[in-house]
Amino acid sequence: MDIQWKGNKYTNFSSRQGYVPFVIVNHISVGSMSSMDAWFTSPENRVSSAHFGVSRQGAIHQYVDIERMAWTQGIPDKQIPRATAQVVQKMGVNPNLYAVSIEHEGKVGNLTEAQFEASVWLHRYIQDRIFDQWQRSFPLDTYHVIGHDQVNPSGKPYCPGPQFPWERLYAALGQVDRVKEEQLMEDIRERMAELEKWHEELSGQVRALERLHALPQVPEWASEAVDAAVKQGLVLNPEQSSYDFYRVLTILHRKGLI
Ligand SMILES: [Zn+2]
Repeated sequence: MDIQWKGNKYTNFSSRQGYVPFVIVNHISVGSMSSMDAWFTSPENRVSSAHFGVSRQGAIHQYVDIERMAWTQGIPDKQIPRATAQVVQKMGVNPNLYAVSIEHEGKVGNLTEAQFEASVWLHRYIQDRIFDQWQRSFPLDTYHVIGHDQVNPSGKPYCPGPQFPWERLYAALGQVDRVKEEQLMEDIRERMAELEKWHEELSGQVRALERLHALPQVPEWASEAVDAAVKQGLVLNPEQSSYDFYRVLTILHRKGLI
């Protein structure tokens, strides 16, 4: 799949003001793909835009960078409590700030097969891009993937439309999440193996270092303390230990502890 860039200097966008996107909002364009392209690039349009559009043939067009905020599902603050999407209520700010939007060419929400496939691919692409850009990971579930009608139930009750294939979409996106999870697990396993190898090498080096610091025999000044420690069964092999080890034994002995 590939994405064709269609945005131009007239395409509306604003700053995300520091918000990292983690919600995908689905829409229906109620018009053709060419009218969508024309409207989102028109100097006459001072009201709306979207990040992506998916045609009935399965072509994907992009108008706004996901780093930027598109004007697709904004609502005034006072309308936020009326949203039916939990995430919108919880966030309590303009949903455009933290959402990525997908328009679908069509009227009532029934997607063609090619369009459905492209949309599933695009959801995953957005999830990956957000991870690459901000290292933020979110599942493609009912909390994070919503419709415009859940943001604005009174103003946009028919977006993405009564025939939008929600159940099928979530099932397909659930598969995507499982594939993603397996990939992450595989990454973790590889990194664990690397860590183990590294740990082994390091232990070898530590042992070599210890051998370098070992004294060939028990030094005179420590012999009394070492004998006492051996008698008490505290030390089994007193030979070839380090200077610090003999010093500690001697101090303990002088303090009458061994
Ligand atoms: Zn919409």
